[in-house]
Amino acid sequence: MVFRNIARKATDVLYPPEIACLLCGREDSETLTHGVCADCLKTMALSPMHEADSHTASVFVYECKVRDAIHKLKFNGEKSIGKKAFAGFLADKLQSLAWPAMDVIVPVPVHWLRLINRGFNPPGLMAKTLARTLQVRYVPHALRRPRHTRPMFTKESNVRLQTAQTSYAIYRSQGIVGKRVLLIDDITTTGSTGQVCCDLLLKNGATEVYMLTVAKA
Ligand SMILES: [Zn+2]
Repeated sequence: MVFRNIARKATDVLYPPEIACLLCGREDSETLTHGVCADCLKTMALSPMHEADSHTASVFVYECKVRDAIHKLKFNGEKSIGKKAFAGFLADKLQSLAWPAMDVIVPVPVHWLRLINRGFNPPGLMAKTLARTLQVRYVPHALRRPRHTRPMFTKESNVRLQTAQTSYAIYRSQGIVGKRVLLIDDITTTGSTGQVCCDLLLKNGATEVYMLTVAKA
């Protein structure tokens, strides 16, 4: 009993239970879902349901609070938003989909310069936590990003696809050979990144690839 109490206290120190909303900071431990209060959650539009045979899905629509939250994670380094909120919502979304069980989870990579600037890869942070929750193997280095391309929000979709094709490459394929892969990213726009990364994974031995993102722009 003593040991159990010590263990519980140690866990509380390592992962303190959330008492304030990760997005607005309001203390409201009663209504928190994955660290997000009911008021914030109300403003976060869910992405429409996907076709049954679709291999891609998103949790939210990329607007308002969701956009702010992604910015806080990516540009302010608020990692709890990725680890607690987004990883939790990704797990819920996955449970609601009729997808088969995944063998491995792979994040969409960032260029090493951005990794140095930011200190972490947001999709990697979420993918790692999700893998731990689902008890699925996390494969962080299947893909790499050899080109440091600029954000692609304003470009035409065909230009975006061409840019994406030269922006991603396979890195270490051992972990994905013969596996059903779940690819994780923060935002999807035209889906060109997903398309290129899925093709690379399939060409290099993955049997099936599904893609789940936090938000659809
Ligand atoms: Zn809130």
